[in-house]
Amino acid sequence: MYTSILKIQNALIKKTLSLPELVKGYLGKIESHNGDLNILIEVQADEAISRAEEIQLKINQGKAGALAGCILSLKDVYAQKNHPLTCGSSILKGLTSVYDAEIVDRLTSQDAIIIGRANMDEFAMGSSNEHSVYGPTRNPLNPDYVPGGSSGASAASIAAQFCNASIGSDTGGSVRQPASYTETVGLKPTYGRISRHGLVAYASSFDSVGPMGSSVSDVAQLLQVLAGEDEKDNSSSSNPPGDYVTAVTQEHRSFTIGIPSEYFSDGLDPEIHRKVDEIIQIAEKEGHLLKKVSLPYTQYGLATYYILATAEASSNLARYDGIRFGNRKMPTDSTSLRDLYIETRTQGFGDEVKRRILLGTYVLSKGYYDSYYGKAQKVRRLIREDFLRAFESVDILLSPATPTTAFKLGEKADPLSMYLNDVYTLPANLAGICAISIPAGKHSNGMPFGIQFQAGSFQEEKLLHCAAQFERYLNH
Ligand code: GLN
Repeated sequence: MYTSILKIQNALIKKTLSLPELVKGYLGKIESHNGDLNILIEVQADEAISRAEEIQLKINQGKAGALAGCILSLKDVYAQKNHPLTCGSSILKGLTSVYDAEIVDRLTSQDAIIIGRANMDEFAMGSSNEHSVYGPTRNPLNPDYVPGGSSGASAASIAAQFCNASIGSDTGGSVRQPASYTETVGLKPTYGRISRHGLVAYASSFDSVGPMGSSVSDVAQLLQVLAGEDEKDNSSSSNPPGDYVTAVTQEHRSFTIGIPSEYFSDGLDPEIHRKVDEIIQIAEKEGHLLKKVSLPYTQYGLATYYILATAEASSNLARYDGIRFGNRKMPTDSTSLRDLYIETRTQGFGDEVKRRILLGTYVLSKGYYDSYYGKAQKVRRLIREDFLRAFESVDILLSPATPTTAFKLGEKADPLSMYLNDVYTLPANLAGICAISIPAGKHSNGMPFGIQFQAGSFQEEKLLHCAAQFERYLNH
């Protein structure tokens, strides 16, 4: 079992492993377990094998790209030419992409291989991967439990060894929370660090492309290839990418690490609390300077997020009207356009998506705009300022990634209890900064949980450097 893409690449170079053999190994696992776990909604077996054969020739000639050996799943939210693009929704059933997302171009041009498309919560709204038209994905570490969401199946595809990496998307925690629930690593880069061209929009001012893998070096390798400006996405940043691959191998550095008191509140599972305290002690022994910090507006994060994200979603999802994309439902007793919209949208969207469209429309409506949307925008700025202030005196913030471990399927029927999963992750999206979740240990219930590091905008090198150090401490 390989623990990183780098190890696979070494084995490929030494010829102790062949790429077609590696891909066939993953396909074997998919064949045996995908039926039960419901992780991949499309398996691209033939394409993956033939690409593996092509890339193997390049490896033999010493001409392979930086991601040769990286076999990944792609969340069903990314356009991939000639493949279905459904976002886990019935409303997009039947839609085939006519172009590749920018990330797909960048990954495949560096010889990464896509092995299949990963299930997800419909339109990336959810924290459990239970809200999908394809049915729920199960956690490979214990199939009674959810893998988290909305990139739960992306995380699960790595945990189940269907592949060695995945690209999820993180709007409020959808990469970091599933990473925490499946013992994998999930990175939410700074807003604008990676092009969103070809990522179906949920909440455009929050959405981030999220590399996932089984180690910090994996996500660093992915980020290296994905980061950078793209003229097709005008929110992508011209800030030059760093040297992320080198950052994770740099020698030990002492960081000033902030511990935000608001992330150790009542809802935090006591065992996770204890473990994170132990990790803080390890950090002190390793020579880091630990400082208590306060991010007082954190308490408004959840409310702010659910106002702004639903507002943006209601506007983004207005385009699914049955005319231009996917599935159309025409009422039998009417020929009016309005009835076609109503019927298509009533049948096409699941309950959670409808709830958010309704909420988002409400907060944007005349008479309520100022008191909800306008106010939430102001609070968003205050939340960002909390972080800016903290980063004046610390390099990095350390906290739990999630308040609990994974929960059982069907356990969280109440939407609010589901939303509470993301209290520690969504502030980073509100602030636009970067953050990562890495495995931190196992709970007595047998399930893993992660710790989160957060750093300022475009500080991914520092973030990855620090996370790689902690990964080493925790592996020993
Ligand atoms: N769970 C959060 C939500 O449902 C975050 C989702 C995400 O990051 N895509 O909105």
